[in-house]
Amino acid sequence: MPDFLPPAVPAPDAGWRLENSYASLPKVFHFAIAPVPVRAPRLLVLNRPLAELLGLAAGSLDETIFTGNSLPPGASPLAQAYAGHQYGGFTTLGDGRAILLGEQITPGGARFDIQLKGSGRTPYSRSGDGRAALGPMLREYIISEAMHALGIPTTRSLAVAATGEDVMRQDGPLPGAVLTRVAASHIRVGTFEWAAAAGDRSDMEALVAYTLQRHFPELAAAENPALALLEAVSGRQASLIARWMGVGFIHGVMNTDNMALSGETIDYGPCAFMDAYDPATVFSSIDRRGRYAYGNQPSIAQWNLARLAEALLPLIHPEEPRAIELATAALEQFAARYQADWLAKMRHKLGLFNEEAGDSALVHSLLEWMHRAKADFTNTFAGLVQPAPDEVFREWQETWQARLARQPESPAESAKLRNAHNPAYIPRNHLVETALAAGQSGDLGPMERLLEILATPYDHARDVPEYRAPDPAGGAGYKTYCGT
Ligand code: AMP
Ligand code: MG
Repeated sequence: MPDFLPPAVPAPDAGWRLENSYASLPKVFHFAIAPVPVRAPRLLVLNRPLAELLGLAAGSLDETIFTGNSLPPGASPLAQAYAGHQYGGFTTLGDGRAILLGEQITPGGARFDIQLKGSGRTPYSRSGDGRAALGPMLREYIISEAMHALGIPTTRSLAVAATGEDVMRQDGPLPGAVLTRVAASHIRVGTFEWAAAAGDRSDMEALVAYTLQRHFPELAAAENPALALLEAVSGRQASLIARWMGVGFIHGVMNTDNMALSGETIDYGPCAFMDAYDPATVFSSIDRRGRYAYGNQPSIAQWNLARLAEALLPLIHPEEPRAIELATAALEQFAARYQADWLAKMRHKLGLFNEEAGDSALVHSLLEWMHRAKADFTNTFAGLVQPAPDEVFREWQETWQARLARQPESPAESAKLRNAHNPAYIPRNHLVETALAAGQSGDLGPMERLLEILATPYDHARDVPEYRAPDPAGGAGYKTYCGT
Protein backbone atom coordinates (compact mmCIF):
# COMPACT_ATOMS: atom_id res chain seq x y z
CA MET A 1 0.00 0.00 0.00
CA PRO A 2 1.52 3.37 -0.94
CA ASP A 3 2.33 5.69 1.91
CA PHE A 4 0.40 8.88 1.21
CA LEU A 5 0.60 10.32 4.67
CA PRO A 6 3.80 10.21 6.64
CA PRO A 7 2.79 11.12 10.21
CA ALA A 8 2.54 14.86 10.69
CA VAL A 9 4.92 16.18 13.28
CA PRO A 10 3.52 18.67 15.79
CA ALA A 11 5.06 22.11 15.37
CA PRO A 12 4.12 24.85 17.78
CA ASP A 13 5.11 27.78 15.51
CA ALA A 14 1.92 29.44 14.41
CA GLY A 15 1.24 30.15 10.77
CA TRP A 16 0.30 28.46 7.55
CA ARG A 17 1.65 24.97 7.32
CA LEU A 18 -0.01 23.42 4.30
CA GLU A 19 0.56 19.99 2.83
CA ASN A 20 -1.01 18.70 -0.34
CA SER A 21 -1.39 14.96 0.07
CA TYR A 22 -4.61 14.86 -1.97
CA ALA A 23 -2.66 15.95 -5.03
CA SER A 24 -0.58 12.80 -4.71
CA LEU A 25 -3.65 10.68 -5.48
CA PRO A 26 -3.99 9.55 -9.12
CA LYS A 27 -4.87 12.25 -11.67
CA VAL A 28 -8.46 11.11 -12.05
CA PHE A 29 -9.31 12.54 -8.60
CA HIS A 30 -8.35 16.19 -9.00
CA PHE A 31 -7.74 19.07 -11.33
CA ALA A 32 -5.17 21.75 -10.49
CA ILE A 33 -6.83 25.14 -10.66
CA ALA A 34 -6.59 28.39 -8.71
CA PRO A 35 -9.50 30.34 -7.25
CA VAL A 36 -10.72 33.20 -9.46
CA PRO A 37 -9.93 36.55 -7.77
CA VAL A 38 -12.88 38.77 -6.91
CA ARG A 39 -13.40 42.49 -7.36
CA ALA A 40 -13.52 43.74 -3.77
CA PRO A 41 -12.56 41.19 -1.12
CA ARG A 42 -13.75 42.06 2.37
CA LEU A 43 -13.59 39.78 5.40
CA LEU A 44 -16.97 39.70 7.14
CA VAL A 45 -16.70 36.95 9.74
CA LEU A 46 -13.61 35.25 11.13
CA ASN A 47 -13.74 32.30 13.53
CA ARG A 48 -10.96 33.20 15.94
CA PRO A 49 -11.08 30.08 18.15
CA LEU A 50 -10.90 27.91 15.03
CA ALA A 51 -8.07 30.00 13.57
CA GLU A 52 -6.18 29.47 16.80
CA LEU A 53 -6.82 25.71 16.74
CA LEU A 54 -5.36 25.65 13.23
CA GLY A 55 -2.28 27.50 14.36
CA LEU A 56 -3.24 30.63 12.44
CA ALA A 57 -2.65 33.77 14.43
CA ALA A 58 -5.73 35.78 13.50
CA GLY A 59 -3.97 39.13 13.72
CA SER A 60 -1.36 38.38 11.11
CA LEU A 61 -3.66 36.72 8.56
CA ASP A 62 -3.74 38.12 5.04
CA GLU A 63 -7.48 38.59 4.64
CA THR A 64 -7.42 38.43 0.84
CA ILE A 65 -6.77 34.69 1.22
CA PHE A 66 -10.41 34.21 2.20
CA THR A 67 -11.68 35.11 -1.26
CA GLY A 68 -8.83 33.46 -3.13
CA ASN A 69 -7.32 36.81 -4.19
CA SER A 70 -4.06 35.61 -2.71
CA LEU A 71 -2.85 32.15 -1.79
CA PRO A 72 -1.39 31.08 1.54
CA PRO A 73 2.20 29.82 1.37
CA GLY A 74 2.35 26.14 0.49
CA ALA A 75 -1.06 26.08 -1.20
CA SER A 76 -1.46 23.86 -4.22
CA PRO A 77 -5.06 24.60 -5.20
CA LEU A 78 -7.21 21.96 -6.85
CA ALA A 79 -10.82 21.03 -7.52
CA GLN A 80 -11.83 17.54 -6.45
CA ALA A 81 -13.60 15.15 -8.81
CA TYR A 82 -16.52 13.10 -7.55
CA ALA A 83 -19.83 11.64 -8.61
CA GLY A 84 -22.95 10.93 -6.62
CA HIS A 85 -26.52 9.80 -6.41
CA GLN A 86 -28.73 12.86 -6.21
CA TYR A 87 -32.29 12.03 -5.14
CA GLY A 88 -31.57 8.46 -6.17
CA GLY A 89 -30.12 9.13 -9.64
CA PHE A 90 -26.44 8.75 -10.52
CA THR A 91 -24.54 11.74 -11.90
CA THR A 92 -20.98 12.98 -12.19
CA LEU A 93 -20.22 16.13 -10.25
CA GLY A 94 -17.00 17.47 -8.73
CA ASP A 95 -16.15 20.76 -7.06
CA GLY A 96 -18.08 23.14 -9.28
CA ARG A 97 -17.54 26.09 -7.02
CA ALA A 98 -14.95 25.02 -4.49
CA ILE A 99 -11.17 24.85 -4.36
CA LEU A 100 -9.05 22.87 -1.94
CA LEU A 101 -6.08 25.05 -0.99
CA GLY A 102 -4.29 22.30 0.92
CA GLU A 103 -4.24 20.56 4.27
CA GLN A 104 -3.29 22.62 7.26
CA ILE A 105 -1.21 20.77 9.84
CA THR A 106 -2.19 22.12 13.23
CA PRO A 107 0.25 22.80 16.06
CA GLY A 108 -1.05 19.53 17.56
CA GLY A 109 -0.23 17.59 14.39
CA ALA A 110 -3.80 17.16 13.09
CA ARG A 111 -4.59 17.55 9.37
CA PHE A 112 -7.50 19.65 8.10
CA ASP A 113 -8.60 20.48 4.56
CA ILE A 114 -8.82 24.21 3.92
CA GLN A 115 -11.36 24.77 1.18
CA LEU A 116 -12.81 27.90 -0.39
CA LYS A 117 -16.49 27.56 -1.36
CA GLY A 118 -17.81 30.01 -3.94
CA SER A 119 -14.35 30.55 -5.38
CA GLY A 120 -15.13 30.58 -9.11
CA ARG A 121 -15.65 28.22 -12.01
CA THR A 122 -13.84 24.89 -12.41
CA PRO A 123 -13.99 22.14 -15.05
CA TYR A 124 -16.80 20.63 -12.94
CA SER A 125 -19.02 23.72 -12.88
CA ARG A 126 -21.35 22.58 -15.67
CA SER A 127 -23.78 25.48 -16.16
CA GLY A 128 -23.06 26.99 -12.73
CA ASP A 129 -21.24 30.26 -12.13
CA GLY A 130 -18.88 28.82 -9.54
CA ARG A 131 -20.04 31.40 -7.05
CA ALA A 132 -22.07 31.53 -3.86
CA ALA A 133 -24.48 34.06 -2.42
CA LEU A 134 -23.78 35.65 0.94
CA GLY A 135 -26.94 34.37 2.67
CA PRO A 136 -26.28 30.63 2.18
CA MET A 137 -22.60 31.03 3.19
CA LEU A 138 -23.54 32.82 6.42
CA ARG A 139 -26.14 30.08 6.94
CA GLU A 140 -23.51 27.35 6.61
CA TYR A 141 -21.31 29.25 9.05
CA ILE A 142 -24.07 29.49 11.68
CA ILE A 143 -25.35 25.92 11.40
CA SER A 144 -21.97 24.22 11.16
CA GLU A 145 -20.62 26.08 14.18
CA ALA A 146 -23.85 25.30 16.09
CA MET A 147 -23.41 21.62 15.25
CA HIS A 148 -19.82 21.72 16.45
CA ALA A 149 -20.87 23.28 19.75
CA LEU A 150 -23.57 20.62 20.13
CA GLY A 151 -20.79 18.03 19.98
CA ILE A 152 -21.72 16.63 16.57
CA PRO A 153 -18.92 15.83 14.11
CA THR A 154 -18.99 18.44 11.37
CA THR A 155 -16.97 20.45 8.93
CA ARG A 156 -16.38 23.91 10.33
CA SER A 157 -16.36 27.46 9.07
CA LEU A 158 -13.26 29.60 9.35
CA ALA A 159 -14.44 32.71 7.54
CA VAL A 160 -16.97 34.36 5.30
CA ALA A 161 -15.70 37.07 2.97
CA ALA A 162 -17.68 39.30 0.64
CA THR A 163 -16.61 39.37 -3.00
CA GLY A 164 -17.98 42.78 -3.93
CA GLU A 165 -19.64 41.07 -6.89
CA ASP A 166 -23.26 40.14 -7.38
CA VAL A 167 -24.39 36.64 -8.22
CA MET A 168 -27.49 36.11 -10.32
CA ARG A 169 -30.04 33.84 -8.71
CA GLN A 170 -33.70 33.00 -9.29
CA ASP A 171 -35.01 36.19 -7.72
CA GLY A 172 -32.37 38.53 -9.11
CA PRO A 173 -28.89 39.69 -8.10
CA LEU A 174 -27.58 38.84 -4.63
CA PRO A 175 -24.33 39.83 -2.89
CA GLY A 176 -21.62 37.20 -3.45
CA ALA A 177 -19.40 35.63 -0.79
CA VAL A 178 -16.80 32.94 -0.22
CA LEU A 179 -16.85 30.55 2.74
CA THR A 180 -13.62 29.05 4.05
CA ARG A 181 -14.49 25.53 5.09
CA VAL A 182 -12.35 23.36 7.35
CA ALA A 183 -12.85 19.59 7.19
CA ALA A 184 -11.19 16.37 8.31
CA SER A 185 -11.31 15.73 4.57
CA HIS A 186 -13.69 16.18 1.65
CA ILE A 187 -13.66 12.51 0.64
CA ARG A 188 -17.26 11.59 -0.09
CA VAL A 189 -19.18 8.41 -0.87
CA GLY A 190 -19.39 10.06 -4.28
CA THR A 191 -15.60 10.09 -4.55
CA PHE A 192 -15.69 6.27 -4.53
CA GLU A 193 -18.54 6.23 -7.03
CA TRP A 194 -16.38 8.42 -9.24
CA ALA A 195 -13.43 6.04 -8.89
CA ALA A 196 -15.70 3.13 -9.87
CA ALA A 197 -17.12 5.01 -12.85
CA ALA A 198 -14.05 6.79 -14.21
CA GLY A 199 -11.00 5.10 -12.72
CA ASP A 200 -9.34 1.74 -12.93
CA ARG A 201 -8.66 -0.75 -10.19
CA SER A 202 -5.44 0.91 -9.09
CA ASP A 203 -7.23 4.27 -8.72
CA MET A 204 -9.75 2.66 -6.38
CA GLU A 205 -6.98 0.92 -4.47
CA ALA A 206 -5.19 4.23 -4.01
CA LEU A 207 -8.37 5.92 -2.78
CA VAL A 208 -9.06 3.14 -0.28
CA ALA A 209 -5.48 3.26 1.00
CA TYR A 210 -5.53 7.05 1.23
CA THR A 211 -8.85 7.13 3.08
CA LEU A 212 -7.74 4.48 5.55
CA GLN A 213 -4.48 6.31 6.22
CA ARG A 214 -6.27 9.58 6.67
CA HIS A 215 -9.28 8.54 8.76
CA PHE A 216 -8.75 5.00 10.02
CA PRO A 217 -4.98 4.58 10.48
CA GLU A 218 -5.65 1.72 12.92
CA LEU A 219 -6.98 -0.30 9.93
CA ALA A 220 -3.99 0.32 7.69
CA ALA A 221 -2.88 -3.30 8.04
CA ALA A 222 -6.36 -4.80 7.59
CA GLU A 223 -6.45 -8.08 5.66
CA ASN A 224 -9.32 -6.82 3.49
CA PRO A 225 -8.86 -3.04 3.36
CA ALA A 226 -11.99 -2.28 1.31
CA LEU A 227 -14.23 -4.32 3.59
CA ALA A 228 -12.60 -2.85 6.70
CA LEU A 229 -13.22 0.62 5.30
CA LEU A 230 -16.88 -0.14 4.59
CA GLU A 231 -17.41 -1.44 8.12
CA ALA A 232 -15.63 1.48 9.74
CA VAL A 233 -17.47 4.09 7.67
CA SER A 234 -20.80 2.40 8.46
CA GLY A 235 -20.02 2.62 12.15
CA ARG A 236 -19.19 6.31 11.96
CA GLN A 237 -22.30 7.08 9.95
CA ALA A 238 -24.50 5.15 12.41
CA SER A 239 -23.06 7.24 15.22
CA LEU A 240 -23.41 10.49 13.28
CA ILE A 241 -27.03 9.97 12.25
CA ALA A 242 -27.96 8.96 15.81
CA ARG A 243 -26.57 12.30 16.95
CA TRP A 244 -28.50 14.20 14.30
CA MET A 245 -31.68 12.47 15.40
CA GLY A 246 -30.93 13.34 19.01
CA VAL A 247 -31.06 17.08 18.34
CA GLY A 248 -33.74 17.12 15.64
CA PHE A 249 -31.32 18.00 12.85
CA ILE A 250 -32.51 17.50 9.28
CA HIS A 251 -29.70 17.58 6.72
CA GLY A 252 -32.12 18.03 3.85
CA VAL A 253 -29.97 16.83 0.96
CA MET A 254 -28.37 13.51 1.87
CA ASN A 255 -27.16 12.76 -1.63
CA THR A 256 -24.16 10.42 -1.70
CA ASP A 257 -21.89 13.31 -2.71
CA ASN A 258 -22.89 14.99 0.56
CA MET A 259 -21.81 12.11 2.81
CA ALA A 260 -18.23 12.30 4.08
CA LEU A 261 -16.15 9.21 4.81
CA SER A 262 -14.70 10.99 7.85
CA GLY A 263 -18.10 10.83 9.56
CA GLU A 264 -18.45 14.59 9.65
CA THR A 265 -21.66 16.37 8.71
CA ILE A 266 -20.95 18.09 5.40
CA ASP A 267 -22.62 20.36 2.83
CA TYR A 268 -25.03 22.57 4.66
CA GLY A 269 -27.65 23.56 2.14
CA PRO A 270 -31.32 23.25 3.00
CA CYS A 271 -30.69 21.84 6.48
CA ALA A 272 -32.71 22.98 9.49
CA PHE A 273 -33.73 21.91 12.98
CA MET A 274 -37.17 20.50 13.64
CA ASP A 275 -39.44 22.36 16.06
CA ALA A 276 -42.62 20.30 16.67
CA TYR A 277 -41.77 16.61 16.60
CA ASP A 278 -42.91 14.91 13.42
CA PRO A 279 -40.81 12.25 11.67
CA ALA A 280 -42.20 13.43 8.32
CA THR A 281 -40.70 16.91 8.73
CA VAL A 282 -39.09 18.26 5.56
CA PHE A 283 -37.89 21.83 5.04
CA SER A 284 -36.14 21.63 1.69
CA SER A 285 -38.18 23.27 -1.04
CA ILE A 286 -37.13 20.72 -3.65
CA ASP A 287 -37.60 17.59 -1.51
CA ARG A 288 -41.23 17.22 -2.53
CA ARG A 289 -41.53 13.53 -1.77
CA GLY A 290 -39.83 13.74 1.60
CA ARG A 291 -36.96 11.46 0.63
CA TYR A 292 -34.75 13.28 3.14
CA ALA A 293 -37.37 13.77 5.88
CA TYR A 294 -36.22 13.62 9.51
CA GLY A 295 -37.44 10.06 10.06
CA ASN A 296 -35.92 8.76 6.81
CA GLN A 297 -32.35 9.81 7.61
CA PRO A 298 -31.19 6.46 9.06
CA SER A 299 -32.49 4.43 6.13
CA ILE A 300 -31.10 6.93 3.61
CA ALA A 301 -27.69 6.72 5.27
CA GLN A 302 -27.83 2.96 4.85
CA TRP A 303 -28.90 3.37 1.21
CA ASN A 304 -25.92 5.66 0.64
CA LEU A 305 -23.58 3.14 2.27
CA ALA A 306 -24.92 0.53 -0.15
CA ARG A 307 -23.69 2.78 -3.00
CA LEU A 308 -20.28 2.89 -1.31
CA ALA A 309 -20.36 -0.90 -1.01
CA GLU A 310 -21.18 -1.26 -4.72
CA ALA A 311 -18.22 0.88 -5.66
CA LEU A 312 -15.94 -1.20 -3.45
CA LEU A 313 -17.20 -4.66 -4.54
CA PRO A 314 -14.34 -5.53 -6.93
CA LEU A 315 -11.85 -4.88 -4.13
CA ILE A 316 -13.82 -6.72 -1.47
CA HIS A 317 -13.58 -10.09 -3.23
CA PRO A 318 -12.63 -11.23 -6.75
CA GLU A 319 -15.81 -13.33 -7.01
CA GLU A 320 -18.79 -11.03 -7.15
CA PRO A 321 -21.32 -13.22 -5.30
CA ARG A 322 -18.88 -13.56 -2.41
CA ALA A 323 -18.12 -9.82 -2.49
CA ILE A 324 -21.85 -9.08 -2.30
CA GLU A 325 -22.24 -11.48 0.60
CA LEU A 326 -19.44 -9.80 2.55
CA ALA A 327 -20.65 -6.28 1.75
CA THR A 328 -24.23 -7.15 2.68
CA ALA A 329 -23.12 -8.50 6.04
CA ALA A 330 -21.21 -5.25 6.67
CA LEU A 331 -24.22 -3.13 5.70
CA GLU A 332 -26.54 -5.16 7.89
CA GLN A 333 -24.47 -4.12 10.89
CA PHE A 334 -25.46 -0.51 10.22
CA ALA A 335 -29.04 -0.93 11.45
CA ALA A 336 -27.96 -2.63 14.69
CA ARG A 337 -25.27 -0.03 15.34
CA TYR A 338 -27.62 2.83 14.61
CA GLN A 339 -30.29 1.39 16.92
CA ALA A 340 -27.75 0.94 19.71
CA ASP A 341 -26.33 4.47 19.30
CA TRP A 342 -29.79 6.00 19.08
CA LEU A 343 -31.05 4.21 22.18
CA ALA A 344 -27.90 5.13 24.10
CA LYS A 345 -28.42 8.78 23.14
CA MET A 346 -32.09 8.64 24.12
CA ARG A 347 -31.26 7.04 27.48
CA HIS A 348 -28.92 9.92 28.18
CA LYS A 349 -31.58 12.41 27.14
CA LEU A 350 -33.91 10.80 29.70
CA GLY A 351 -31.18 10.83 32.36
CA LEU A 352 -30.77 7.06 32.40
CA PHE A 353 -27.40 5.56 33.24
CA ASN A 354 -28.27 1.88 33.15
CA GLU A 355 -30.27 -0.25 30.73
CA GLU A 356 -33.67 -1.84 31.07
CA ALA A 357 -35.62 -3.80 28.50
CA GLY A 358 -38.49 -1.33 28.57
CA ASP A 359 -36.35 1.74 27.74
CA SER A 360 -37.06 1.75 24.02
CA ALA A 361 -40.82 1.63 24.69
CA LEU A 362 -40.44 4.48 27.18
CA VAL A 363 -38.74 6.64 24.55
CA HIS A 364 -41.26 5.73 21.87
CA SER A 365 -44.23 6.57 24.06
CA LEU A 366 -42.71 10.00 24.71
CA LEU A 367 -42.15 10.55 20.99
CA GLU A 368 -45.70 9.43 20.20
CA TRP A 369 -47.04 11.93 22.69
CA MET A 370 -44.86 14.69 21.21
CA HIS A 371 -46.10 13.83 17.75
CA ARG A 372 -49.77 13.92 18.73
CA ALA A 373 -49.39 17.04 20.90
CA LYS A 374 -47.21 18.76 18.25
CA ALA A 375 -44.78 19.42 21.09
CA ASP A 376 -41.45 21.12 20.51
CA PHE A 377 -38.74 18.43 20.31
CA THR A 378 -35.93 20.43 21.93
CA ASN A 379 -37.97 22.07 24.67
CA THR A 380 -39.80 18.87 25.62
CA PHE A 381 -36.52 17.09 26.28
CA ALA A 382 -35.04 20.13 28.01
CA GLY A 383 -38.10 20.40 30.28
CA LEU A 384 -39.01 16.81 31.12
CA VAL A 385 -39.67 17.69 34.75
CA GLN A 386 -41.85 20.70 33.93
CA PRO A 387 -45.55 20.59 34.88
CA ALA A 388 -47.34 18.29 32.44
CA PRO A 389 -49.43 20.04 29.78
CA ASP A 390 -51.90 17.13 29.69
CA GLU A 391 -52.89 13.87 31.33
CA VAL A 392 -51.04 11.62 28.86
CA PHE A 393 -47.78 13.40 29.48
CA ARG A 394 -48.39 13.34 33.24
CA GLU A 395 -48.77 9.54 33.10
CA TRP A 396 -45.62 9.27 31.02
CA GLN A 397 -43.77 11.35 33.62
CA GLU A 398 -44.90 8.95 36.34
CA THR A 399 -43.61 5.92 34.45
CA TRP A 400 -40.36 7.77 33.77
CA GLN A 401 -39.94 8.83 37.42
CA ALA A 402 -40.48 5.23 38.52
CA ARG A 403 -37.82 4.17 36.00
CA LEU A 404 -35.38 6.80 37.36
CA ALA A 405 -35.99 5.53 40.88
CA ARG A 406 -34.78 2.07 39.80
CA GLN A 407 -31.24 3.28 39.08
CA PRO A 408 -28.66 3.91 41.79
CA GLU A 409 -27.69 7.41 40.62
CA SER A 410 -29.25 10.36 42.41
CA PRO A 411 -31.83 12.69 40.83
CA ALA A 412 -29.15 15.38 40.72
CA GLU A 413 -26.81 13.13 38.74
CA SER A 414 -29.63 12.23 36.39
CA ALA A 415 -30.47 15.91 35.84
CA LYS A 416 -26.82 16.62 35.08
CA LEU A 417 -26.75 13.84 32.48
CA ARG A 418 -29.95 15.14 30.87
CA ASN A 419 -28.63 18.68 30.72
CA ALA A 420 -25.48 17.47 28.98
CA HIS A 421 -27.53 15.75 26.25
CA ASN A 422 -30.58 17.99 25.86
CA PRO A 423 -29.60 21.34 24.37
CA ALA A 424 -31.31 24.45 25.69
CA TYR A 425 -30.35 26.33 22.52
CA ILE A 426 -30.49 25.23 18.90
CA PRO A 427 -30.43 27.44 15.78
CA ARG A 428 -34.14 28.23 15.67
CA ASN A 429 -35.29 28.72 12.11
CA HIS A 430 -36.80 32.16 12.61
CA LEU A 431 -33.70 33.38 14.47
CA VAL A 432 -31.43 32.13 11.71
CA GLU A 433 -33.57 33.90 9.11
CA THR A 434 -33.56 37.15 11.10
CA ALA A 435 -29.78 37.00 11.48
CA LEU A 436 -29.31 36.29 7.77
CA ALA A 437 -31.63 39.08 6.69
CA ALA A 438 -29.70 41.55 8.84
CA GLY A 439 -26.35 40.13 7.69
CA GLN A 440 -27.28 40.51 4.05
CA SER A 441 -28.14 44.15 4.58
CA GLY A 442 -24.84 44.82 6.30
CA ASP A 443 -25.63 44.33 9.99
CA LEU A 444 -23.79 41.28 11.35
CA GLY A 445 -24.80 42.07 14.96
CA PRO A 446 -27.75 39.64 15.19
CA MET A 447 -25.63 36.85 13.69
CA GLU A 448 -22.81 37.46 16.16
CA ARG A 449 -25.26 37.45 19.08
CA LEU A 450 -26.86 34.23 17.80
CA LEU A 451 -23.45 32.58 17.37
CA GLU A 452 -22.54 33.57 20.89
CA ILE A 453 -25.68 31.87 22.30
CA LEU A 454 -25.20 28.79 20.12
CA ALA A 455 -21.60 28.40 21.27
CA THR A 456 -22.83 27.04 24.65
CA PRO A 457 -26.01 25.14 23.78
CA TYR A 458 -26.05 23.09 26.98
CA ASP A 459 -25.84 26.10 29.29
CA HIS A 460 -29.24 25.66 30.94
CA ALA A 461 -28.45 28.24 33.61
CA ARG A 462 -28.33 30.95 30.98
CA ASP A 463 -31.73 32.54 30.59
CA VAL A 464 -32.47 34.07 27.22
CA PRO A 465 -36.02 32.77 26.58
CA GLU A 466 -36.34 34.51 23.22
CA TYR A 467 -33.57 32.23 21.91
CA ARG A 468 -35.28 29.12 23.30
CA ALA A 469 -38.76 29.60 21.96
CA PRO A 470 -39.84 28.19 18.63
CA ASP A 471 -41.07 30.65 16.02
CA PRO A 472 -43.85 32.66 17.72
CA ALA A 473 -45.54 32.83 14.32
CA GLY A 474 -45.77 29.01 14.32
CA GLY A 475 -43.13 28.32 11.69
CA ALA A 476 -45.64 26.55 9.46
CA GLY A 477 -44.48 26.18 5.90
CA TYR A 478 -40.86 27.07 6.69
CA LYS A 479 -38.86 26.38 3.53
CA THR A 480 -35.16 26.10 2.92
CA TYR A 481 -33.27 26.22 -0.35
CA CYS A 482 -30.25 24.46 -1.73
CA GLY A 483 -27.32 26.71 -1.05
CA THR A 484 -26.47 28.11 -4.45
P1 AMP B 1 -24.53 20.87 -3.57
O1 AMP B 1 -26.01 20.83 -3.84
O2 AMP B 1 -24.07 22.17 -2.96
O3 AMP B 1 -24.05 19.69 -2.80
O4 AMP B 1 -23.83 20.83 -4.99
C1 AMP B 1 -24.04 19.82 -5.93
C2 AMP B 1 -23.09 20.00 -7.09
O5 AMP B 1 -23.40 21.22 -7.77
C3 AMP B 1 -21.62 20.08 -6.73
O6 AMP B 1 -20.90 19.44 -7.75
C4 AMP B 1 -21.35 21.56 -6.70
O7 AMP B 1 -19.99 21.85 -6.94
C5 AMP B 1 -22.23 22.04 -7.85
N1 AMP B 1 -22.62 23.46 -7.70
C6 AMP B 1 -23.48 23.98 -6.79
N2 AMP B 1 -23.59 25.30 -6.97
C7 AMP B 1 -22.80 25.65 -8.01
C8 AMP B 1 -22.48 26.87 -8.68
N3 AMP B 1 -23.03 28.04 -8.32
N4 AMP B 1 -21.61 26.82 -9.71
C9 AMP B 1 -21.06 25.66 -10.09
N5 AMP B 1 -21.32 24.48 -9.50
C10 AMP B 1 -22.17 24.46 -8.47
MG1 MG C 1 -22.49 18.88 -2.18
